[in-house]
Amino acid sequence: MTKFSERFSRRKFIVTAGASVVSSVLLKGCLGNPPEPSGTAGGGAGAAGGAPVATSAVAVANEKRVEGIESTKITLGYIPIVESAPLIIAQEKGFFAKYGMVDVKVAKQANWGSARDNVEIGSAGGGIDGGQWQMPMPYQISQGLITKNSVQIPMYVLLQLNTQGNGIAIAGKHQGKGIGLKLEKSAQDYILGLKKAGTPFKAAYTFPKANQDLWIRYWLAANGINPDADVELLTVPAAQTVANMKTGSMDGFSTGDPWPLRIVSEKIGFISALTAQIWKGHPEEYLAIRGDWVDKHPKATEALLAGIIEAQQWCDKPENRAELVSIVSGKNFFDVKPEVLLTPYEGKYDLGDGQPQINDFKMSTLYWNDGLGNVSYPYKSHDLWFLTESVRWGFLPTKTLADSKAIIGKVNREDLWKAAAKLAGVADADIPKNTSRGVEKFFDGKEFNPDKPEDYLKSLAIKKA
Ligand code: CA
Repeated sequence: MTKFSERFSRRKFIVTAGASVVSSVLLKGCLGNPPEPSGTAGGGAGAAGGAPVATSAVAVANEKRVEGIESTKITLGYIPIVESAPLIIAQEKGFFAKYGMVDVKVAKQANWGSARDNVEIGSAGGGIDGGQWQMPMPYQISQGLITKNSVQIPMYVLLQLNTQGNGIAIAGKHQGKGIGLKLEKSAQDYILGLKKAGTPFKAAYTFPKANQDLWIRYWLAANGINPDADVELLTVPAAQTVANMKTGSMDGFSTGDPWPLRIVSEKIGFISALTAQIWKGHPEEYLAIRGDWVDKHPKATEALLAGIIEAQQWCDKPENRAELVSIVSGKNFFDVKPEVLLTPYEGKYDLGDGQPQINDFKMSTLYWNDGLGNVSYPYKSHDLWFLTESVRWGFLPTKTLADSKAIIGKVNREDLWKAAAKLAGVADADIPKNTSRGVEKFFDGKEFNPDKPEDYLKSLAIKKA
């Protein structure tokens, strides 16, 4: 590991003419998800502040510049976790510039709430035009469910950024109780017993009703634990999650790489389950942009997407992972030691608590090919799962399912992805023909058939709906 960091601390980026400017704008506010590894930010909400600027390699600027591009400029928000790598790589390796998007600003967001606030005001108001989102945040923003004064801001889901790379962390004090992917009866009884003893298992996420909340709920419920009755689920600012786990006031949280590695190596706790074990190739985070921006800039959108698609292909090549780590770990981006990212990016996970080691590239964060479909393509069937799961837990009304075609049709713009994929030279065979990936399989044997979401809901023993 030391060798690795030495190798890459010496790395120099080549700066070429026409290089895009990367603004790593740190917005103030409480911290994002997962915890900011370096303990940045804090205090006070607000729009984009000072912008430390880093310029770096643009290999082939304007090589495939889109003619008639309406704007070369957009501001995309990101959270410093592995999900955002395609945005950073598209910027740093010159894939945005290649298609003529030479003024892309990739802006670090303090947390998911800040990203939401910033997209409400848009870049014209000092915020962002879109960026990285957990699901179903673009739907929640479109419907005014999580915005100020319930204002509806139509968003378009344009591309999936990644799959996998997340896990459920458990505090060290619960080691040796058999808390893993599948809970034996004794482990179930142990967790249920905590409630009886007046010290219920407390599990946290940093933004409610989205991925992290849904993963922890799925895992608990599949193991016979009712997340609404048997444990306490709560929103905790990411900055506090690790400290709370160290002091014993929190028992678990759902988090993304590199935290699964750090939780174990820093002896804070262990990982009960990787999301890749819960649902191989599951949908994770997405690129979504304000609908008004996309409608006004269709060619720029296509150029932008083509750049991200190329970045995702680049990110998925095992031989590029070391360089990927050297870029995203940098001060302007994640600001972490490169070695904490390298092993997860190789698919090497030590889950802790005596669980078998994982060493399989296909278990790592994937950006392009997971063997199940196209990672980048935003399947409508996956959006439907997020809506169905939201119905399951009472976050959305049951009638959402009856209206799902119309709801998804307004937000999911897989048609724009397909046009961009052609522009990026993606082979026809790699462009999905169907907006559904088909039947999805979970670790507990449950299946989600996108043609029959009601059957999936019926099959689940623990739910609110
Ligand atoms: Ca995530």
